[in-house]
Amino acid sequence: MSFIRFVKSNLLQIVDSAGLNAPILNSPWRKRRLAVICWHGVSNDDEHRWDPGLFMRPEALRMRLGQLRALKCNVLPLAEGLARARSGSLPPRAVCLTVDDGDSSFHLLAWPMLREFGFPATLYWTTYYSTHPYAVFDPMLSYLLWKGRQSTLALSDPGLRCDLRDPGERRRAFTALYEFARDNAWTGQRKEAFLAELARLIGVDYARIKSRRVLHMISPAEARSMVAEGLDLQLHTHRHRVPRNPDLFAAELAENSRILREVGAKAPAHFCYPSGSYLAEFADWLRESRVESATTCQFGLVERDSNPYFLPRLMDNGTSSTAEFRGGLSGIAALLSRRHGVPRHGFA
Ligand SMILES: [Zn+2]
Repeated sequence: MSFIRFVKSNLLQIVDSAGLNAPILNSPWRKRRLAVICWHGVSNDDEHRWDPGLFMRPEALRMRLGQLRALKCNVLPLAEGLARARSGSLPPRAVCLTVDDGDSSFHLLAWPMLREFGFPATLYWTTYYSTHPYAVFDPMLSYLLWKGRQSTLALSDPGLRCDLRDPGERRRAFTALYEFARDNAWTGQRKEAFLAELARLIGVDYARIKSRRVLHMISPAEARSMVAEGLDLQLHTHRHRVPRNPDLFAAELAENSRILREVGAKAPAHFCYPSGSYLAEFADWLRESRVESATTCQFGLVERDSNPYFLPRLMDNGTSSTAEFRGGLSGIAALLSRRHGVPRHGFA
């Protein structure tokens, strides 16, 4: 944990213990603002132990939903929340729930829980791996190296020898293999075959991982059934990337949108930047593709005059405490965070 995060976390603990979150959450100041929560995956197995920044335990998500209910948050569909933030007609304690990517755990665990609580939610779905039977390559590569952390990896092509007990060595192995796959333009099929072979070499049961659907995406049939049950499916690009060329950018959106509409999403018009990466010119490109809003991974609450193409969210994951979550909902955490403008150059 960074020093700033440590200080902020302690301040939020003090605020929460002093009972200050409730009056702020109920204040006229907060009523003019909308909290858009960002979640990623829920663990199908032990993913939260591998990457707690991306995965949380199912019980942790259930606890969050319980906290939203206990605090009497008004959970709104995303489009309604954004429209009411703009028109100044938000109810008190307004919240929207968004989940990024479309990991299989969304269908297996998160969506049933959201339905049980009666909360509307938006899934920003990236579609490439949903239309193929493969594990998502980059995270699965990292996950397998972590699972095999008692082993030594010895490969001949590419030539590589790493003691996987050492996290630094695991990172070195990941980078070498990721770059090797990229430089040799491996297809999805080639990548999947390599993952199975890697697992075998380091003594990890890949069949079990696949049967639990760890780091696999929801299928189009699952997406369709959730849309029929009321899920709001929105854009996250087809291949989880934002090309810096307007034509390639539009093509990523168009393919993503085509698959969303194929499974029943009516007219996807809301977007989330993959990996939170954005440039100022993306606003025009999104407008040209008839996209009405875009969320980032910048921390904060949506205000009436927030730029609709660079909306802040509250990132929540397996590393956040209850005090941090409640401080995010009340708005205190955003006040303690540094303000970010829209970047003119480079990726955020
Ligand atoms: Zn994403």
